[in-house]
Amino acid sequence: VYETAIDDLLRIAATPAAVAPVSDGSDGPSYALLLVAAISLMILGVAALTNTLWRRPETEELEALAWSDGLTGLANRRRLDHDLDAGHADGPTSVIMIDVDHFKGVNDAYGHQAGDDILKRLGILFAHHVRSDDVVYRYGGEEFCVLLPGADVDEAHSVADRIVAAARDVNLPNGANVTVSVGVAGAIGDELIEAIEQADRAMYLAKQQGRDRAVIAVGQSDVD
Ligand code: GH3
Ligand code: MG
Ligand code: MG
Repeated sequence: VYETAIDDLLRIAATPAAVAPVSDGSDGPSYALLLVAAISLMILGVAALTNTLWRRPETEELEALAWSDGLTGLANRRRLDHDLDAGHADGPTSVIMIDVDHFKGVNDAYGHQAGDDILKRLGILFAHHVRSDDVVYRYGGEEFCVLLPGADVDEAHSVADRIVAAARDVNLPNGANVTVSVGVAGAIGDELIEAIEQADRAMYLAKQQGRDRAVIAVGQSDVD
């Protein structure tokens, strides 16, 4: 609306009638139409600016909601897909996949609400234990994912070990601690989706090896 009004006013201001001095019967010529157009333009400009500034926080809030997971407040899967599409700078980026161990049993024993509280606490702990450039995502259900830009697989492995240790700080009502199984994989450049699959497979190896541990993707560890 503002843009159309401004266009119309600019057109009026450019017409010969607007720029030609019109005698109003008094002493000198009058540029009344041009003056009205100029003042209107200024008012509309201020109104348009105010409108934009006023709406900006609202828009930012909506964008933040669309990118974040409602339960944990972490970045959501949609955000991960967006970040993967956007690609990353050349150089290493590592991926960590996390799955909570025996979580179905937690829900069965203490209820879904208690399960939700544990997911929230885990999300906060994971975000606290990664490096400042890393982003923790809720991948879905009781699964989380971390992108670690600039981290090679060994650096990512030490972050993964911190995550495994952090999960043990969360206690169930019976006093037992929560555990997670973690898979780690490194990628160069745009191979992130492949790295996620490799980290996922490594996470399942961690399950097979007894859970409560971090495992590096096959072929990426020094000891392979
Ligand atoms: P495993 O160690 O093999 O991973 O066992 P698991 O029980 O964690 O694995 P499984 O995939 O069998 O179950 C995952 C469970 O996570 C099933 C579902 O009830 C629970 N879950 C998924 N999303 C949520 C959620 O948002 N809130 C709660 N409370 N539970 C969830
Ligand atoms: Mg799972
Ligand atoms: Mg699980």
